[in-house]
Amino acid sequence: MTIENLNEKIKAYALKNAIAYKGKANSGAVLSGLFNEGLEKSAVKDVMPTIQQIIQEISELSLEEMQKEYDKLEEFTSHRVEREGLPELPDSENGVIMRFSPSPSGPLHLGHAATGMPSSLYVKKYGGKFYLRIEDTNPDNIYEPAYKMIPEQAEWLFGNVYKYYYQSDRIEVYHKFALDLIKKDAAYVCECEAGVFRELAKNKEECPCRNKSVEKNIEDWNKMFDKENGFEEGSAIVRFKTSSEDGGMQNSNPAMRDFPLVRINDTEHPRQGTKYRVWPLMNLSVACDDAEFKLTHIIRAKEHMDNAKRQAMIFKVFDYPLPQTFFLGRYKFTDLEISCSRTKEKIADGKFTGWDDIRLPFIFALKKRGYQAAAFEKMAIERGLSEVDKVISQEDYFQLLSNFNRDLIKDKAIKATFEEDGDLEILMPDSTIKKISSDIDVSKLKDESIVYFEDFGYSAYNESEKRFWFGHK
Ligand SMILES: [Zn+2]
Repeated sequence: MTIENLNEKIKAYALKNAIAYKGKANSGAVLSGLFNEGLEKSAVKDVMPTIQQIIQEISELSLEEMQKEYDKLEEFTSHRVEREGLPELPDSENGVIMRFSPSPSGPLHLGHAATGMPSSLYVKKYGGKFYLRIEDTNPDNIYEPAYKMIPEQAEWLFGNVYKYYYQSDRIEVYHKFALDLIKKDAAYVCECEAGVFRELAKNKEECPCRNKSVEKNIEDWNKMFDKENGFEEGSAIVRFKTSSEDGGMQNSNPAMRDFPLVRINDTEHPRQGTKYRVWPLMNLSVACDDAEFKLTHIIRAKEHMDNAKRQAMIFKVFDYPLPQTFFLGRYKFTDLEISCSRTKEKIADGKFTGWDDIRLPFIFALKKRGYQAAAFEKMAIERGLSEVDKVISQEDYFQLLSNFNRDLIKDKAIKATFEEDGDLEILMPDSTIKKISSDIDVSKLKDESIVYFEDFGYSAYNESEKRFWFGHK
């Protein structure tokens, strides 16, 4: 089979790859593009010299020149046959029920976009339900404004949330779930000090509370609710009783040995006040919800691997069908720390203007710079369901994101001239202000209108500030 316009296609794929990787194209990436165009594996040997020659030629170009060339040649690549999305999920014929479950410790950032997006995309693809549950069962780790921010940001980012809900509205459901576990002799109330239990668990030894009768456990469970005459905060917790089938306290993984499910916390909760003192820990509330909402597939961060095993043990007690679970590696930035608590402090100190400060990797800052939700979709598709952490610099991450974004905005961006000095202001990613003049009529712009300043880059108009926020080149 011959491929039409082969040289143009090679050049287009080489440019595309070079733009994404600081000007260096990789012949393997070009080949994978060509395979999508129908190149036979047997023809690789024949095209390789041409690929290498073209890669060599374009390596002389600046990134801007590459972009201009690529814009001309892009039409030769058939988007239709490029990898169209994420890998297929098994057992998805009848639709899927999935979830994204951030804790309200801060607003959404690009890490959330990466972990939440695959589930959103799968529900778009197969049909079904995409739940967004806010995991707010730890009163000590709640940033109240996040309750309002997360749904707004998720609406923009995913656009297909079937239902939002707060775990703190379901505390009584979790109480019943915990009591059911106790009644099945699969959980017990443990009064051991944390340090004492840890030492016993380390030595694969059972604590004295483990062999209490179900009746005694129910009695102790009731005492957890009684602030006056019952247990004090920290003096009793409910533990899962790892089944003998799973090795009990002998389980080879210490994290699986009688892990905690429920605790007492008298801290006032932002949504529930002092209504509850008995709070589920995440393995209980997550297992309960995943079972009750009948999740079919779960995509979660790799660091939850042990939790997934713990939750599977809870499922087994009730014989609930286990959702298919996939794990995602994270972006590990070499030079960017994403911390809600530290950002919160810096906002309070006036070091950042807010969560949408142009320097921050939070979703609404990026939106105001003209990044489109679909660019995060493309990032997620490119990552696939990889369990491997991706070590990346801030610059490389944003170059990838910007490349995807450019494809999305270049046709709708308003073209304008660019000259140094003038009355128009562009807020730059380092928060300095660039003064320019241009032929653009800002009175005709709406909030977040995207303007392409020739030979400079894409910026989005910020109506309330009457100036542009720089996006990318
Ligand atoms: Zn104990």
